Amino acid sequence: MESRKKTCQNCHREFTIEAEDLSFYEKIKVPPPTFCPDCRLMRKMTWRNERSLYQRNCDLTGKRVISIFSPDAKVTVYDRDVWWSDQWDPLGSGRPYDFKETFFDQFRLLLERAPMPAIFNAQSENCEYTNHSGRSKDCYLVFGSWMNERVMYANKAWMSKDSLDVLSSSYLELCYETITGMKLYRTFFSDNCDSCNNSYFLYNCKGCSNCFGCSNLRNKSYCMFNKQYSSEGYARELKKFNLGSYQELERLKRDFDALKLKAIRKFAFLVNAPDSTGDNLTNVKNCKSCFDLFDNAKDCKYTMNGGVVMSDIYDSYGPGDLELGYEIIDSGLKAHRLVNDIVVWGGKNILYSYNCHGCNDCFGCIGLRSKQYCILNKQYAKEEYEELIPEIIKQMNDVPYIDKKGRVYRYGEFFPPEISPFAYNETIAQEYFPLMKEEAISRGYRWKDLDIKEYKTTILSRDLPDNIKDVTDSIVNEVIGCAHEGKCLHQCVGAFKIAPQELQFYKRMNLSLPRLCPNCRHYERLKQRNPMKLWHRTCMCDLKTHFHGGKPCPNEFETSYAPERKEVIYCEQCFNAEVV
Ligand SMILES: [Zn+2]
Ligand SMILES: [Zn+2]
Ligand SMILES: [Zn+2]
Ligand SMILES: [Zn+2]
Ligand SMILES: [Zn+2]
Repeated sequence: MESRKKTCQNCHREFTIEAEDLSFYEKIKVPPPTFCPDCRLMRKMTWRNERSLYQRNCDLTGKRVISIFSPDAKVTVYDRDVWWSDQWDPLGSGRPYDFKETFFDQFRLLLERAPMPAIFNAQSENCEYTNHSGRSKDCYLVFGSWMNERVMYANKAWMSKDSLDVLSSSYLELCYETITGMKLYRTFFSDNCDSCNNSYFLYNCKGCSNCFGCSNLRNKSYCMFNKQYSSEGYARELKKFNLGSYQELERLKRDFDALKLKAIRKFAFLVNAPDSTGDNLTNVKNCKSCFDLFDNAKDCKYTMNGGVVMSDIYDSYGPGDLELGYEIIDSGLKAHRLVNDIVVWGGKNILYSYNCHGCNDCFGCIGLRSKQYCILNKQYAKEEYEELIPEIIKQMNDVPYIDKKGRVYRYGEFFPPEISPFAYNETIAQEYFPLMKEEAISRGYRWKDLDIKEYKTTILSRDLPDNIKDVTDSIVNEVIGCAHEGKCLHQCVGAFKIAPQELQFYKRMNLSLPRLCPNCRHYERLKQRNPMKLWHRTCMCDLKTHFHGGKPCPNEFETSYAPERKEVIYCEQCFNAEVV
């Protein structure tokens, strides 16, 4: 098989399907895609709402619940515990397949009938405002996370305690404003650090303690702006800074941004990742264009945010413990051959299904548990099922779904965004591919205007005391106007509150109050991470002391730093020669 070029149905740009891709599509029995990798990712993301929460009623009990489905979404929503109980029949919403209608139209109607749990959080205590999260305690606004205690405002946080404002980090304790950190204790404003404690404003430091404003350090103590001090000297210098003052903190953040820009960077973080390209890959093999994968992932492509024994997976977001998967979101758990699935845990041969658990051989199902041979939530005998599936696949090709913009969805395509229960800006698509309202609508996506009026601002952020020591306990009763005033692309709701335990944290750590709402803060952190996209570039090093002797280093690589960016990007060899 040879590679071939195709034009993307969505963006009309050319993309390449490699020979290895064609063997994968053959193995999993899907035709080659008609969307380019970026457009596939964006389309998938329109089906994942991680962080937009609403109050609505359980459609079975009438109980008021927190939900990821807005009250005006055309979905049947049950209280999470009711959904997981035996009080209702998941097959009650089933209908026979109608060969006169398109598959996706029938799926859209099933989505209106088949109950969904209000929210995806499990085995947690006092974690009402968490989603796609589990095994946690006393957490608030924590998303896509696992096993945390007393964590607030976090996304992709794992095994962490008593920390606030976190992105993609694990094993944190008493940390604040952490991006891609690991094993950190009392570390504030850090980016890409590992095993550090009692430090502030660190970029790519490892094994450091009592450091301030440093980059690319290994196993150092008492350094300030990469200069070594004695412990007394460091303590004396540290006293000159007051992070409790908002003005001063903002100045330090700007200095930190400048420091990060000057620090040399490795083209990608690949640890024990043979034959792989992407970023943040640890213990993986032959994973191409993959991001944030760890622990025994192999033969994957265009896949992100997953790990734990998985192989042969393409175009997936959040897979784990899975063999053979294509176009899936948040699925796995000893699963085999999942195709076009969303939140499908366990089982084999599940196609085009949403929120099914422990099922086998199901097609176009929603909200089933431990079922087999079901199509559109209707039970069939094994023989009937096996006869029907090829007929349905043929019908999907003969009678394709055509969306408002004329994009054609035959068998193999992921679900169209326009039938998603979420508007574009409620989903992670807005986080990774931000669009203005008009732009989103003109591309055929739905948009949800955020309801700002229910928050009546009682104090503007600019009127907050500059210094945390001047903030009184009554601040927890105020509704603070976000400095972005809902005018940004950050799902800003215009206002926010400070929780009592949060105020305690700021006071104890002497940190000024934030001026932005949690959503805007999340987007500010996201900005610090690179896009999940690769460019082919050459090492920027020309040091005389290196093997290339003062001439430009000839090494090339795939990097998530776009060519026009200002950072200085080195190959692994040059980077390691400077930062050990
Ligand atoms: Zn495209
Ligand atoms: Zn805001
Ligand atoms: Zn904002
Ligand atoms: Zn180099
Ligand atoms: Zn070099």
